Amino acid sequence: MAITVKKVDRNVDMTLWERMYIPEMICGMLITWRHFFLNFVGLFLEEVGGKHYRRIATVYYPEEMPIVPVAYRGRPVLVRSKNGIEKCVACGLCEAACPPNCISIIGGERPNGDRYPDSYVLDGSRCIFCGFCEEVCPKEAIVMSHDWKNLCEYNRSKMVYTKKELLYPERNLQKRFDVLRDKYFSAYRYRQSPNLKTEPKE
Ligand code: SF4
Ligand code: SF4
Repeated sequence: MAITVKKVDRNVDMTLWERMYIPEMICGMLITWRHFFLNFVGLFLEEVGGKHYRRIATVYYPEEMPIVPVAYRGRPVLVRSKNGIEKCVACGLCEAACPPNCISIIGGERPNGDRYPDSYVLDGSRCIFCGFCEEVCPKEAIVMSHDWKNLCEYNRSKMVYTKKELLYPERNLQKRFDVLRDKYFSAYRYRQSPNLKTEPKE
């Protein structure tokens, strides 16, 4: 998905027409009504000839689940590798990069010398879903999942996730890995492609 930036020129002199406000309000209401009717008509164009034509902004949740874009950043999760243990090596980079300081890690060491997070706590009530933890992680051990459900609670303390609640099977995160490797980590492709002689530019 291409990311585009729209520049907004805020130093515009308003015309008399715009300064009257009423015509602009009517224009705004016309846009609102246009979306309303498009949504309304969209109800009857849901399935035509087996194809999905509906192009409306709303879904009938919870009967219908929204399809989030592949680059969507949902709940951050810790990756549990195929052998059943976390990929995290408790380096602390995510903890340092997290703007609202919502990650706390206590590292440990296995008998074979490998490091692991003895304790990994993420305060989901403070997380701003920026994805910095995911970007800095050298092990692809924390990623933004596509999980957008159950992200709210009546009690903030219930949103403090421990390692047990954060662990997520690697096989369910393949789409996210694809996005990361394709869009963000061109260096990953370099490492995976011995035929490339020079590291691609970001
Ligand atoms: S997504 Fe951002 S705010 Fe949330 S845990 Fe990661 S770094 Fe912290
Ligand atoms: S950056 Fe990755 S490996 Fe390092 S502590 Fe965070 S999740 Fe673990």
